[in-house]
Amino acid sequence: MDSQKRHPKIFSCEFFPPNTDEGMRKLFAAREELMRMRPAFFSVTYGAGGSTRERTFQAIQAIQAHSGVDAAPHLTCVASTRAGIREILDIYHTQGIHRIVALRGDLPSGMREFGEFRYANELVAFIRAETGDHFHIEVAAYPEFHPQATSTERDVLNFKRKVEAGANSAITQYFYNSDSYFRFVDDCEKLGLDLPIVPGIMPITNFTQLARFSDNCGAEIPRWIRKRLESFGDDRDAIRAYGLDVVADLCQRLLDGGAPGLHFYTMNQAGPTLAICERLGLTRK
Ligand code: FAD
Repeated sequence: MDSQKRHPKIFSCEFFPPNTDEGMRKLFAAREELMRMRPAFFSVTYGAGGSTRERTFQAIQAIQAHSGVDAAPHLTCVASTRAGIREILDIYHTQGIHRIVALRGDLPSGMREFGEFRYANELVAFIRAETGDHFHIEVAAYPEFHPQATSTERDVLNFKRKVEAGANSAITQYFYNSDSYFRFVDDCEKLGLDLPIVPGIMPITNFTQLARFSDNCGAEIPRWIRKRLESFGDDRDAIRAYGLDVVADLCQRLLDGGAPGLHFYTMNQAGPTLAICERLGLTRK
């Protein structure tokens, strides 16, 4: 973990692009509240295959123009062409965007063709070739390994490919087991990788939704957490209170262990993320 301790700590939040005006208003209200945790950037996800293209643009433009905090669009390359990605990079360049979260994405159901990029390392290399050092490039990391990984060693080596292609820092998939993160970072250090690897944090507010997400993305909910959450049934207050305890404790352990910041999957809600940051003493009035 020694390499991680050298990096300044960075806190950030992630939103998804809503598909209604009302949803967009809620996102902007959440963004206002989240300013209290002094985020370094707000990122906005992008539907693989371009399904949220215009809505991601709209959210990014509004964040960049009105919050005084950097907006960082996610960009996926699956089912894309070089010309299409070039066009998007041009738009972001013109808008003064300086940070991009570069991903492969998952092939949307019904689509068969991968397009002109097969893996995220190819997207990172393309962004560097097209735009030089203009963008700070974030990539994804998987402390509990990517669900399609053919071996744990190969998964870490594939992560290394993205770093060698020009990634500046990484954000992890969420996890509730700090050891998986510390081990992953140690594996990266052994390969000579020295970039900030920021833990992705998913607040716990809704057990059914969390269980569904976790099954899809390969994140494990440890049995002792799952059993407790199940025992609360429909008692949402109890789920939130327990979730706050567990996740704030996880964050504290990660920061004490040298993690270079935290990236919150906010689900477009300020409350759960702010409650964690308040516990950690990271908010201002
Ligand atoms: P890659 O790094 O390409 O890895 C995918 C798989 O291929 C891994 O199993 C890896 O081991 C393997 N692999 C990688 N490179 C090679 C290679 N050169 N040769 C052989 N095998 C290789 N999805 C969205 O659709 N939109 C988003 O906005 C979005 N944001 C995300 C943000 C974060 C922080 C994270 C952690 C995930 C996000 N995702 C998003 C999900 C992500 O798109 C999926 O997890 C996807 O399956 C993998 O994307 P990747 O960029 O990690 O892919």
